[in-house]
Amino acid sequence: MQERVISSGVSEFDERFEQSLRPQYLSQYIGQDKVKNNLDIFVKAAKMREESLDHVLLYGPPGLGKTTLAAVIANEMNVNIRMTSGPAIERPGDLAAIVSSLEPGDVLFIDEIHRLNRSIEEVLYPAMEDFCLDIVVGKGPSARSVRLDLPPFTLIGATTRAGALSAPLRDRFGVLLRLDYYDNQALTEIVSRSATLFDAEIDHPSAGEIASRSRGTPRIANRLLKRVRDFAQVRGNGTISLETAQEALELLQVDALGLDHIDHKLILGMIDRFRGGPVGLDTIAASIGEESTTIEDVYEPYLLQIGFLQRTPRGRVVTKLAYDHFNLPYFEE
Ligand code: ADP
Repeated sequence: MQERVISSGVSEFDERFEQSLRPQYLSQYIGQDKVKNNLDIFVKAAKMREESLDHVLLYGPPGLGKTTLAAVIANEMNVNIRMTSGPAIERPGDLAAIVSSLEPGDVLFIDEIHRLNRSIEEVLYPAMEDFCLDIVVGKGPSARSVRLDLPPFTLIGATTRAGALSAPLRDRFGVLLRLDYYDNQALTEIVSRSATLFDAEIDHPSAGEIASRSRGTPRIANRLLKRVRDFAQVRGNGTISLETAQEALELLQVDALGLDHIDHKLILGMIDRFRGGPVGLDTIAASIGEESTTIEDVYEPYLLQIGFLQRTPRGRVVTKLAYDHFNLPYFEE
């Protein structure tokens, strides 16, 4: 199967590549002005009071910069960051070991926090609220609960689906910030910045071309830039021109709206097999061989955002806009 440039998965190699492009401070973090302005105030206020920052929940589709922002916050607060993820914390003891090793003020980042299991959430509540852990020592009738004090710390949770978080967990975050898809101008800036970081020459229109096909997502913009740079190196003199950018993107099968073969398969499949819907998420998933959650978290949000799909109580529906994009006749039901 063809590799998906715009996939949400991050391999180890990608991780190193992404790491090298991550902005370190708020001033280098492009776009998301509302989020940045809010954070700037919270960070300054916490520093003035010499307190740890309130717990922060970052939510939004993959690749929009949640992990990056968590590291930026830790840098701005001058503290260390410990990174983990919901699925990586298997037992309450794993979490206890992590939180008890934090220094005062440190940031604990939990990616995919909606995937924490309930028994671990319960350990997290007193840790977030009172900075303490209730640990059961011993077994059977002699078992007793011991309270362990923790240094004050900031939990930063990231999730693609805030709705999947349990209410008690969500309520324990003082700051909730939603990251939105980036506009073209911000993405063009991100592409230009990344190009400078890996010594690639790119002009403004070419950066804009890559940006416009990046589905509002910095992770995709950076991946496309990398592919286009390789193409420019092999086919030309290394400089990225509009023509090479377009040619490379064509080869990658990323269309003018940033949709790739999986989006095409999803939309065209719905049109072919289900007359454009309404069709249930699980049925779509089965028909294209993907997980329902992957469709819901990764593919669908952008298609909803650009108005190609609509969610109705009876299922997903392909809109006229999408039919137009694929030059297909649209018949009103
Ligand atoms: P998420 O955690 O939301 O999935 P990441 O924080 O891993 O996303 O971001 C993916 C990549 O996009 C990172 O390598 C980072 O370099 C880049 N990136 C994200 N947001 C920004 C931004 N605001 N400015 C510049 N680069 C960004």
